[in-house]
Amino acid sequence: MKRSNSSGSGGEPLPPGSTIGILGGGQLGRMTAMAAARLGYRVHVFTPEADGPCAQVAAAQTVAAYDDFAALSAFADAVDVVTLEFENVPLATADFLSQRRPFYPSPACLAVTQVRTAEKSEVNKLGFATARWAPVHSADALEHALAIIGGSAVLKTNRFGYDGKGQVKIGPGDDAAAAWASLKTDDAILEGFVDFVREISVVLVRGQNGLIEAYPAVENRHRDHILSETIVPAAISRSLAAEAERMAASIAGDMDYVGVLAVEMFETRDGRLLVNELAPRPHNSGHWTIEGSTTSQFEQLVRAICGLPLGSVDWRPSRMINLIGDDALSWQDYVADPAAHLHLYGKPEIRPGRKMGHVTWVLPAP
Ligand code: AMP
Repeated sequence: MKRSNSSGSGGEPLPPGSTIGILGGGQLGRMTAMAAARLGYRVHVFTPEADGPCAQVAAAQTVAAYDDFAALSAFADAVDVVTLEFENVPLATADFLSQRRPFYPSPACLAVTQVRTAEKSEVNKLGFATARWAPVHSADALEHALAIIGGSAVLKTNRFGYDGKGQVKIGPGDDAAAAWASLKTDDAILEGFVDFVREISVVLVRGQNGLIEAYPAVENRHRDHILSETIVPAAISRSLAAEAERMAASIAGDMDYVGVLAVEMFETRDGRLLVNELAPRPHNSGHWTIEGSTTSQFEQLVRAICGLPLGSVDWRPSRMINLIGDDALSWQDYVADPAAHLHLYGKPEIRPGRKMGHVTWVLPAP
């Protein structure tokens, strides 16, 4: 959107009417595309799978593999800025695109968030705690790391893990060699098992000018390792909530991060916060912001990458549940609940463990 005589270039915000390229075609892209459309932007999705949740609401789609550089080149030519909803795009893909178009969050940030050991090093470097951890590259190294970490531990693939996939708990006396063999990788991390009180996360957005807006820390409950419920705000002390926000903001600032970042943490029984994981994109624990905050996490991403001022993160207490697998069959109950905000992602087939949609209730202020 520009006057017919304006050039629209030179450090200016990207104006409405411009095209946002999104790598990845799932529900996070879909909700980003819907927020982008509301502000007058077009979305072009690049995805290996046709007709996914994002493509159904996008202006254009490229269906190609992430290492199809001819397709990536054409995609770069067709968009004004690139972001992602799938964090494990190959770094070569991110580098290639970032040389052609503004690309947020940067490939350097992705290099950290794609690798658990790099993530933990980044967090520890800033003086923030994580579970005790050690890189593991062999069955022998696993035995050694188990002896040092002591007690129960969790062995995880160092890359490409999500929703509890690629991880196995090892208790005292368990067969470590079998655990190592089951992971089928030679690049792993061993973490001490955290006996947490609760899991929380902070979702924030950082703009190109370094300003940050953070949503309140929320509590996340899981079922079969998949997020099932988010409670807003987390029932933790104000000082712990402030500490969680401060940690997340420091991590984003240190990485010169631009976009939406989620920081997942454990609250320990003795009231400490341990960082578990970073997600370089809108996060499932931020879906409540669509109705529960003045500006959703998806709109914040659009604002950040387009160089617009960040929106207000004023919020109201909320509750979000995921509709996983057959949960989605109850959609009629939610659509009949006048207080429920039902979101379905347009996935044609229900599968066990598949995120089909979510429901948010904005609660009366306490
Ligand atoms: P992740 O893929 O690292 O987010 O792990 C998925 C879930 O597994 C977390 O949300 C926790 O519920 C659990 N988990 C992961 N790491 C640990 C740990 N070190 N100690 C205890 N539980 C863990």
